[in-house]
Amino acid sequence: MFASNCHLLSNDAGEALVVDPGADADQILSAIAGGNLRVAGYLLTHGHVDHVSALAEVHRKHPAPIAMHPEDSKWAFSPGNKMEPFFSQPEAPPRIDRELADGQVCEDIGFTYRVIETPGHSPGGVCFYFEDQGVLIAGDTLFRGSVGRVDLPGGNGQALSRSLQKLCRLQYDTVVYCGHGPATTIGAEKKTNYFLRPGALG
Ligand SMILES: [Zn+2]
Ligand SMILES: [Zn+2]
Repeated sequence: MFASNCHLLSNDAGEALVVDPGADADQILSAIAGGNLRVAGYLLTHGHVDHVSALAEVHRKHPAPIAMHPEDSKWAFSPGNKMEPFFSQPEAPPRIDRELADGQVCEDIGFTYRVIETPGHSPGGVCFYFEDQGVLIAGDTLFRGSVGRVDLPGGNGQALSRSLQKLCRLQYDTVVYCGHGPATTIGAEKKTNYFLRPGALG
């Protein structure tokens, strides 16, 4: 309904990380089956229901550690997190195994990536930066031509502005995979995205 993107990252051995299992568990499960993948972990950019609602179901079939920032995990599976009539409260997964924090360097299935805290759209929002691959998974912090809304509970325009300035310091040709819509690059957004100008968000 909200066209939330779920990303699957896999290595040559067929191991995979699942980022933001949102609305459609069946579609995610068939992608895992179609690629003959073994899920090695779940990475959550933030707690909004359209990015976590398939987690419990996919996790049940493919158990693996779940990583999330504590500022979002504390409300993501509570009754208030819903977008009715499209999403009711997400079913809670067994537990969050890894608490994400700014600057944390993680190594999973042969990928090394850095956690960048990017609060603003939500209090515990993070991006995952795969420097060797030149890839940023940005969740709802940055979109092509736009940025995440800040009018949801816990949103903060000034915090988002600071988070976006952090992303602007990444390599110009970094490919950005967004929580909604098409991919872009840091360079293209710096050139054309109004919201990346200092002061644009107050
Ligand atoms: Zn969101
Ligand atoms: Zn979203």
